[in-house]
Amino acid sequence: MIDLYAEVIVDISHEKLDRPFTYKIPENLIDEIEEGTMVEIPFGQGNKLINGYVIRIKENNDYCPEKTKEIAGIAKGSVKADANLIKLATFIRKTYGSTQINALKTVMPVKKSVKREVKKRVVALLDEEKLEYLADLAGSKHKNAQERLLRELKKYSDISYSFITNKMNVSSQTISALVKNDVCRIEEETVYRNPIKIEKPSDTVVELSEEQKRIIDDVNEDLRKGERNTYLIHGITGSGKTEVYMRLIEDRIKEGKQAILLIPEIALTYQNLMRFYARFGDTVSVIHSKMTAGERYDQYLRVKEGSVNIMIGPRSALFTPFENLGIVVIDEEHESSYKADNMPKYHAREVAKKLCELTDSILVLGSATPSLESFYRAKCGEYKLYRLNDRLTGNTLPKVYVEDMRQELKDGNKSVFSRRLHNLIEDRLNRHEQIMLFLNRRGVSGFVSCRECGEVVKCPHCDVSLSLHKDGNLKCHYCGYETPFSKICSKCGSDKVRGFKAGTQMIEDFVRKEFPYALILRMDADSTKKQEDYESILSRFSNREADILIGTQMIVKGHDFKGVTLVGIVAADMALNAEDYRAGERAFQQLVQASGRAGRGENPGEVVIQTYQPDHYAVEFAKTQDYDAFYEDEITFRRQMMYPPIGNLLGIQITGDEEKRVVKLSKVISDMIDKMPIRSEIGKIGPASAALSKKCDIYRRVIYIKSLDYDNLISIKDFIEKEIEKFNLERETVMFDFNPMNGF
Ligand code: ADP
Ligand code: ZN
Ligand code: ZN
Repeated sequence: MIDLYAEVIVDISHEKLDRPFTYKIPENLIDEIEEGTMVEIPFGQGNKLINGYVIRIKENNDYCPEKTKEIAGIAKGSVKADANLIKLATFIRKTYGSTQINALKTVMPVKKSVKREVKKRVVALLDEEKLEYLADLAGSKHKNAQERLLRELKKYSDISYSFITNKMNVSSQTISALVKNDVCRIEEETVYRNPIKIEKPSDTVVELSEEQKRIIDDVNEDLRKGERNTYLIHGITGSGKTEVYMRLIEDRIKEGKQAILLIPEIALTYQNLMRFYARFGDTVSVIHSKMTAGERYDQYLRVKEGSVNIMIGPRSALFTPFENLGIVVIDEEHESSYKADNMPKYHAREVAKKLCELTDSILVLGSATPSLESFYRAKCGEYKLYRLNDRLTGNTLPKVYVEDMRQELKDGNKSVFSRRLHNLIEDRLNRHEQIMLFLNRRGVSGFVSCRECGEVVKCPHCDVSLSLHKDGNLKCHYCGYETPFSKICSKCGSDKVRGFKAGTQMIEDFVRKEFPYALILRMDADSTKKQEDYESILSRFSNREADILIGTQMIVKGHDFKGVTLVGIVAADMALNAEDYRAGERAFQQLVQASGRAGRGENPGEVVIQTYQPDHYAVEFAKTQDYDAFYEDEITFRRQMMYPPIGNLLGIQITGDEEKRVVKLSKVISDMIDKMPIRSEIGKIGPASAALSKKCDIYRRVIYIKSLDYDNLISIKDFIEKEIEKFNLERETVMFDFNPMNGF
């Protein structure tokens, strides 16, 4: 028999150990160890047993055979990684930069088996009459617990064991005694912790519209021809996208395949799940961050058993180990939560694309406001673009007003609300219709703008807003450009340049003062520490227990409140002037999404957008809901500045506990990039202090590199990684983010 060897990635996250180690597979384990198996291996000089993943099995051993150690065994309770997931991990490692072990852990949301929950029931073996007789007998002997149980068994004949011991206060000895005398028996069944705990609701099957039918026919035609494409469905909310997803998924399931549907965690609501559950029943499962390890493991088992066909969840649902995947759908594909915020900072859209390639599946993206990336790819012909233009529910889009806050100020109105918004709130309160007030939470460090003419002070090099710092200087978080703050506006000459601050708490206080009789709910990170808080606020508002809901981004995502006929966007400027290149895109998306919350019931809705920059293109096009016009303006800006999706951006973040050292290291890295031997054309920005320059006593600096060629950025990252490895850094960390979404 020939010897077999395994390449193993050890479960220690350290750059120096970030390579496969070769181990011999012992003969008795040859049949059990496969690629993806988690094994125990002796490691280092002390031969301490640690875990690792087998990523490859080979016959030859290029490492010194006498020194090759043997695998000790299969790690207890471990879960095997699928071959495709290992390939996905390799892709993630290469594309986003991380250690192999971290990439492997990323693609394995379930790593360990968790003990199954066993449910016991007590089932009567005698008829009612006999049970009655025995109960009387027990009663006469003052065996009260026994009597209680017998009477209950007479009534129900099949009772949950835990109910008997907990609720009926009957001991397990009492039960055993009856079992011994053949009065009843205990039945055991293993149950899956099913996250969806409801009766199957009824489904309404609709006749597809012409537009919907065209999409489905076209996709199926492509599949018949053997083409595997990526599709982008651009359609306003209520235009029937979800119905299209369901039909496409249904078709794949009929072919014996499975489906993954990604939705942003925040939109993972009961309402949304129910539609799928109603149509597909028990074969739908869900996975999300609030689930226990046991619940996750059970979903994994159900998938492995083949009893789940559709997995719904946020980005980690991508790693569901389906046998025969056929389709991945990403709803609200523009959402920034599809980008991971921990290392490796992968983007679910890109990883999904890779997964579809590996599994011969199709990828369907949908949004009312597609990301610039996806729309750009669709325009280039890389994705197929479909449009759904009409709301199928019959109601019309709301009327949108843009209120110029400069004018309000000139007319002597110093309040948070424009006169129009104030009057409309009053009107809705009188009519008992509901109101949502939305405030963007971004703008951490505060841009400054002129209250007279609306001009925002920007970086002359990067065209993003400058932020006011405590030292009185305005700074650019891309390039580090600095200039002293001045109240004098460079455009109109007024002395009305000011910082911008507003929070949900402040709005709430203000509303309480102005409208003391209104019932108010507030939703932001503070008021929703727990998932229950979040759901309870939403359901209370939905049940019309309040007139006004005040909140951040959280309140605009996909919720359908029929009673809302007024949406107020209190300060659009906060979104327009976030200090990164995506500010315009994010602002447009939020304005359109927020507007979409009004008038979803019978009564038509109105939207008020308050801003000091009514001429900003994101505001103008949000008002008319003109995505295409917005896209043209935005892509022109990206092209001029070589920002994604035209160019690519690599963010390098250097953090540490001592400012001087962090500054020095970032300088060293910056010089390193300048001196890099072979590289194509790049643009380097920085080093500069990060948007949050100091957080929890950790200093942060960033360098950005622009390049048209993504691979070029990867080689720069690899180069830097190799170089800094020599420094043996202990107090500083260097992190990489490709095409960052949320800034550092
Ligand atoms: P989106 O996902 O774009 O927001 P949905 O698929 O949720 O749109 O559809 C919005 C509403 O219209 C839902 O209540 C849905 O049941 C209904 N709907 C979808 N397709 C049709 C159709 N062809 N005919 C009638 N109603 C439809
Ligand atoms: Zn001005
Ligand atoms: Zn700059």
